[in-house]
Amino acid sequence: MNLITDPWIPIHRANGKTERIVPWELTDRIDDNPILAVASPRPDFDGALTQFLIGLLQTTCTPSEDQWWDWHEIAPSTEELKVRFETVAHAFELEGGKAFMQDFNPEQLEKRFDIAALLIGSPPKGSSTDLFIKQDAVEQLCPHCAAAALFALQTQAPEGGRGYRTGMRGGGPLTTLVVGKQLWDTCWLNVLEASRYHAGAVSGITEAPDHFPWLAPTRTSESKPPAGVTTPVHVHPDQQFWSLPRRIRLVGEECELTPCDLCGTATERIFRSFLTRNYGVNYDGFEHPLSPHYKRDATLLPAHPGRDGIGYRDWLGLTENSPDGSHRPARVVTQFRNLIGEEGRLWAFGYDMDSNKARCWYEARMPILFVPPGCEDTFRKQVDSLVKAAEKVAGYLYNALKAALFGQTKIRGDLGSVKSELWKSTEAAFYPHVRDLRDAVQEEPLAHLILDSWHRTLRDTAFVLFDRYSRTGDFDAVDPGKIATARNSLGRALGGVPLKKILGLPKPPRKKSTSP
Ligand SMILES: [Zn+2]
Repeated sequence: MNLITDPWIPIHRANGKTERIVPWELTDRIDDNPILAVASPRPDFDGALTQFLIGLLQTTCTPSEDQWWDWHEIAPSTEELKVRFETVAHAFELEGGKAFMQDFNPEQLEKRFDIAALLIGSPPKGSSTDLFIKQDAVEQLCPHCAAAALFALQTQAPEGGRGYRTGMRGGGPLTTLVVGKQLWDTCWLNVLEASRYHAGAVSGITEAPDHFPWLAPTRTSESKPPAGVTTPVHVHPDQQFWSLPRRIRLVGEECELTPCDLCGTATERIFRSFLTRNYGVNYDGFEHPLSPHYKRDATLLPAHPGRDGIGYRDWLGLTENSPDGSHRPARVVTQFRNLIGEEGRLWAFGYDMDSNKARCWYEARMPILFVPPGCEDTFRKQVDSLVKAAEKVAGYLYNALKAALFGQTKIRGDLGSVKSELWKSTEAAFYPHVRDLRDAVQEEPLAHLILDSWHRTLRDTAFVLFDRYSRTGDFDAVDPGKIATARNSLGRALGGVPLKKILGLPKPPRKKSTSP
């Protein structure tokens, strides 16, 4: 199978129909029945295949700023894309001498694994914690699903034991894409114009294996860093999309017409295992265009989803530079803000990884707001105060429930979810408040009203959750007196100075002393 000339990308169109397309058909029927999104059997494949298409466009069509605008306004024809994509078709054969995203020297790969091990989130042997699929459900993959699984693994590879390298952005990175109305827009909005794409790259690194590392022997990483490390000075920026942290060869076999365990498609070429060995390419120092980054000890690191998922507390770092400059959005988001300067939508996704185990797959959609020039700092500080206030209230709520249900004793029940419940319950109200703040950013009295409204939202939600949790039958021996006392102290904390200070609201009036 060739990934440039075969129809293998599963998509759905505006009329609801699903089908598989050749990559250059991305703009097919764009005026009357456009392709809306990738529609694969797994959510992580949707994210991976969208990145595949973005990578293909970035690699074969890196535009000047004018060219970027041209295709943003009028999408290219399928014929035009076909001509561009076919220039790299030789590197996109799934099998053969030089195989897409696989090792140049298969004879050196001494370990054989079942094909399920290619899927991130498939259970380690003997465990039953599978993320997307039932244990043992996947024993064979069709070429389409094998290619998607291979790309997803090389792009997001988790730690895999000694010398089994993670993906370029670490295991299970957080990816953020600007989303358009159609799949074409979503792809093109995330292609960087040339000067941004090549920023920091070394010129003259243009041999085919600098773009597609499987066209030459792998830059293996047995030697101790920095010797075995591959950085932006060693390879072309294209390798950010076509990385090779794992040395892998898929093992395909001819078979009777048989269904794929993931997508159900009947196939006469099936993949039941792959060969591998450790010490693939050890990447370091890249600022991948599709991931937000943060600074630690002056080093820029790619962000990963946390245990609590992706929510509004992350919003500032995903769409704006944080006030202290420690978090910066993905380069494609920064480009969107600078070039388009309008409101947009963001799709953020990734795994929560516990070293080599995928605990959870998270994804979220959130707005990208345009802030009037000169007001960015004020706006960021205000948004930051909304988030910090929510953090404070989550703590108050947790403490109040702990006091109500368990007193001073060691916690017996599980209250861990109550904090994330507060975040979830206030998520929908957050974005309207942020929008209002943006609109009122130059008018302080109005901003004040909005911050006050957020304060009320948090307080009301905290009481609702307190009442719900304190009356639940999950906890035995509940003491109504204790609940009432705890509720009163929650009320005092919610109306107290520390919270108002975070939001910049006036202090509550002091009660007049009644003592003589
Ligand atoms: Zn399949």
